[in-house]
Amino acid sequence: MEIVDLRSDTVTKPDAEMRRAMAEAEVGDDLFGEDPTARRLEEEGAAALGMEAALFCPSGTMGNEIALHLLGRPGGEVVCDAESHIVWYEGSAMTALSGLLPRTLPSPRGLLDPAAVEAAIAPDAVYRARTVMLEVENTHNMAGGTVYDRPRLEAILDVGRRHGLPVHLDGARLFNAAVALGVSAASLAAGFDSAMVSLSKGLGAPIGSLLCGGRDFIHEARRVRKMFGGGMRQVGIIAAAGLLALRDGPARLAGDHENAARLARALAETPGIEIDPATVQTNIVIFSLTPELCGGSAAAFVERLKEAGVLAMTVSGNRVRFVTHRDVSAGRIEQAIERLRRLAA
Ligand SMILES: *Cc1c(COP(=O)(O)O)cnc(C)c1O
Repeated sequence: MEIVDLRSDTVTKPDAEMRRAMAEAEVGDDLFGEDPTARRLEEEGAAALGMEAALFCPSGTMGNEIALHLLGRPGGEVVCDAESHIVWYEGSAMTALSGLLPRTLPSPRGLLDPAAVEAAIAPDAVYRARTVMLEVENTHNMAGGTVYDRPRLEAILDVGRRHGLPVHLDGARLFNAAVALGVSAASLAAGFDSAMVSLSKGLGAPIGSLLCGGRDFIHEARRVRKMFGGGMRQVGIIAAAGLLALRDGPARLAGDHENAARLARALAETPGIEIDPATVQTNIVIFSLTPELCGGSAAAFVERLKEAGVLAMTVSGNRVRFVTHRDVSAGRIEQAIERLRRLAA
């Protein structure tokens, strides 16, 4: 039985074309600024996001944490959504590495409310930690791939401007947001002080992310990347895969979104599963179990699903996540739906 792996869009494997590009990549010592492939990736990445410069990082976490380190200040607060990746899935890096404290806001569908952001900014009082920056996650992972539209981003950026606070964009899946809205990634990154995009998620590279921002910011970011242990040598080997992912990846995402919508519709018709398919905007599908299915236990359901040949991830006690990606075709999605229905029956 062939397994349908819907745990994450990070499970994609480089195809023959990507492996060939990696094998043939022009390389040099990147810490000496001599890797032409990494340079090209950083230039094209910056252009795609409409920013002056970019830095190739080994992971999305490192990209985010470099930005937090540079835009924040020890003892300061970062205003962000309560379910954000920087709070839940990066260890306690912002605290451990940069002395920052998250000021978390529970937000419907993971999308920050500009008025709530403004209300969370600390008053200038001797006993209060200073608010030092804002952070936005687009698409929002744990809220189910939800997308910020430009007006909401504009309102949050305006709060940042009026209070003199820099704003970082965790755009691990920014291209998914752009495809969902039918706009450019650059239009969604405009106005942010820094933006991180993952190459190793839906775009399909095996490794890496790009941190984008102004020229001076990226100059400093290169120093912090080294300090955090992310300085690399003949990195063109993996930057070559990143280049292909950046060039060809975005055009494939619409197919992933169609597959996620199809999954969501099928899940909505399955007894014991609760989901509103209208909330599925990109490639992430999060749903809840009622007690009639596996006693409402996500862990038990994921285990039984695995035995049936479909891999998923447990989000919480009764919530499960599917993520569609380039290594799962529409046909395989139908197969997953069939296995799921048999399990639920
Ligand atoms: C995956 C992800 C990251 C980066 O994760 P790495 O595993 O470190 O590459 C950052 N933010 C969000 C929202 C993510 O989904």
